[in-house]
Parts: sequence; C-alpha cells; structure tokens
Amino acid sequence: MSVLQFPSSTEKILPDAIKLVWPPTELQNPAAIEAISGSLVGLAIGDALGASVEFRPQEYLIAHPVRDMKSGGTWGLPAGKWTDDTAMALCLASSLITQKGFNPYDQMVRYKWWYKHGYLSSTGYCFDIGNATRDALEEFNHRQKKLKRYVNCRTESEVDQLSFDIIQRAGFNVNCSRPGVAGNGALMRFAPVPLFFYRTPSLAVELSGESARLTHGDDIAIDACRYYGALIVAAIYGERKETLLSKQFYHQYREWFDRRELHSEILRVADGSFKRLGGYYDGIRSTGYVVNTLEAALWAFWSANSFEEGALNAVNLGGDTDTVAATYGQLAGAYYGYRNIPEAWKRKLYANKLINCIAAWLQVLGRSDINSSEQRLSRSITSPIQLPQPMYMNIPQSRKVESTISEPPQRDPHKKRSRSIPRHPRSGISYWAHLNSRYSGDRKT
Ligand SMILES: [Mg+2]
Repeated sequence: MSVLQFPSSTEKILPDAIKLVWPPTELQNPAAIEAISGSLVGLAIGDALGASVEFRPQEYLIAHPVRDMKSGGTWGLPAGKWTDDTAMALCLASSLITQKGFNPYDQMVRYKWWYKHGYLSSTGYCFDIGNATRDALEEFNHRQKKLKRYVNCRTESEVDQLSFDIIQRAGFNVNCSRPGVAGNGALMRFAPVPLFFYRTPSLAVELSGESARLTHGDDIAIDACRYYGALIVAAIYGERKETLLSKQFYHQYREWFDRRELHSEILRVADGSFKRLGGYYDGIRSTGYVVNTLEAALWAFWSANSFEEGALNAVNLGGDTDTVAATYGQLAGAYYGYRNIPEAWKRKLYANKLINCIAAWLQVLGRSDINSSEQRLSRSITSPIQLPQPMYMNIPQSRKVESTISEPPQRDPHKKRSRSIPRHPRSGISYWAHLNSRYSGDRKT
C-alpha cells in the first residue's frame, strides 16, 4: 500500500502542493472518518477564523464581530490560511502516519523543521510560535547537537533520521520542557494523537498527555490534553453532547485514565467550571494559560447548537482567538462531523484536501489492539552504530541556550506565557519505562 508522502525538511513544498495519495476505500471506515476529518478540519477552521483577530481584546470583537474567515489583520494572511496551531498539528499527524506510530523524537524533529524551515506551514515559514514551544525546540536543538557528536553523525539530517531505538539507547531525553510550563501550545495541536489511537482509548488518553509533555512539562498542560483527548475519543464513538459535558463523564470513562487522577485544576473544569451563561462577563477568558483555553473551548461547545455558532462564540471572546477556536474545533468537529461544518468555510480553508487526506490516513493506519500499538511505538530498527555508555541529557532547564535557530518575529509577550506554578515534578519514572512495563514484556531496556 503506498502511503501519503510528506516532503523532506528542506523541500520548499507548500501544503497545497503535496501530492495526495488516498488510502484504499475498502480500508476506510466512513463513520470514523467523518468524525476524524471533522476534528482535524475543525481545528484548522477554528485557527483560520481566529487568525485575523489574534490578540485583539474582547471590546474590539464586540465592535467588529467575526462572522467569517477574513484576509489581513494580525498576520496579514489571506482568508482561509492558518497559523502555528494547524501547522504543528499537521507535523504531528505527518509523524504518526510516516512512523506508523508514536515516535516522540520524530515529532520533535518535525516541529523543529516547522520552526526552522516552515515545514507544513501555510506560508512556507514559521511566523507565529508560543514561548514555551520555542524554548523547548531550542532545547531540543541543543540536545541534538550533543547527540550528533555522540553518535558521530556527519549532518543534521542524519541526526534527524536516527531511529528511536538509537535514541533510547543513547539515553536521549525527548521531553524538552519542565514543570511550571502550562501554556496552551500543546492543547492546540494534539488532536492527531486521539484520532490515530481512538480504537484503544486508554492508550489515546495516555499518549495525548505524552505528546504535550515534549514541549509543555507541567501536569496541568499534560492533563488538559488527557482529558480533552478522552472527550475527542468519546465523540468519535458518538457519545451524546450531554454526557461529554457532564461532570459524570470523567467517572463514567474513568478506566480510560488508568489509575492516574487528573490534576485538580483539570478536575475543576471536568466538573463543569465552563458552564457560565454570561461567557466573557461570567469570567470565561481566552488567554494562553491552558486551563483558561480549555474552559473557553468547552464553554463555546456548551453554549451553541452547531459547529458554526460555537466557533464564532470561541473567536469572539477575543484574546487568543485562533487557539481557543482551534481547540474548540478539535472536539466540536469530531462531535458534529465533517458534513456539519459550513461548506463556505470548508471551501475557503487552505489545503482542505490535504487535511482530509491526512485524516483518512490517521483512521486507516491507527490500530485497534495494544500489541500492534506497541509495535508501532517501538520502531525496532537495528542500528549499525555501536554506542558506548548512554549519554545523559537531563540538562538543567534554567541554562540559557544560545539560539542557533533564526529567530522568528516576536509575538505578543502576553501570548502563551508560561505560568510559574510552584509544585513538585511527578515521579520521575520515564514514560518509556512505564509503557514497557504495561504494554510489552520483551522490549529492550
Ligand atoms: Mg496560532
């Protein structure tokens, strides 16, 4: 089966010029694809709707309410083009499809390609990046340089292509953030994970959190993605809106969360903190803090009866318009389905066909059983490189890293700002060790 091919890091091929290869019809599940396309396209449409008014205060949106995708504004984009939220989601989806599984190193490599080369950006370059994501990618870049020397790679491209087997044996730490980093930059992009792993909900929930941990190391940011990932999976299975938004949801689907309780800040949201009739005037805020974003997106979903109405409610809160609407779109699109997203918006959306094609591949390549998922998690590529003792890369995060990646234009300093939350980091047991013990008895250690 020939799978959709994504460009290499340096090929300057814009998303709408990527050659589309669709999965065989007989392998597709139309009902699931309806929800998966709805979620991915919903994300991109929310992003594109909010792009022209990103950072505008609520008062501005009252005077100039958004009703459609518009050109110009904050980033000067043509109507229908999207920002970092969608570009990063497509990087994540391209990794899941290309790797046929969850390879966090490859995900970070692709995010770096976007940051450095504009990979899968709607404009061909990275013009919009959150502080936490930028810090994590700078840290990743620094660690990769050490790795390059350690494994004697000649080029950066060689380091980028290293198998996860080598990465693990080298002791490379892919999690490039730290506790206290709780912006919304992971929640805005993570939907491809639950869309790929939906057949195994507990795995989908866990990996939703792990996809966040790469760039946003606080439990609040991680658990926001675990909770929202569970909602997206339940929506794919056709769960009723009333149940999705009920405080009973978490208890009803508790087994999806394994034994690890959600953080109290996320539990508060799951208990219904977003149900505020007055919206903005009742305290719903569209900021870069992940809890505010989660609340605002759920409020938009709760306060409307259609994809369109909810998306406009999200954008017209002002503030972090594109990210709140992109977050909303991930769940609302899965719930309402692709066919219930306004046709006019779908027609205007940049690279809509590619996004649909990616959604179909996520559905087809995602697997149902844990053993298969485990095989996909561990790419057992035998390396000819003999490694000495593992290198240790848990570099103190307070260290200042000299940027080697050309700096993009600075964004609003208040955007996606990390909150400093005094708290103890979690256990320290590595994610891979945790998965090994749960899903496999024969993985290399
Ligand atoms: Mg954005």
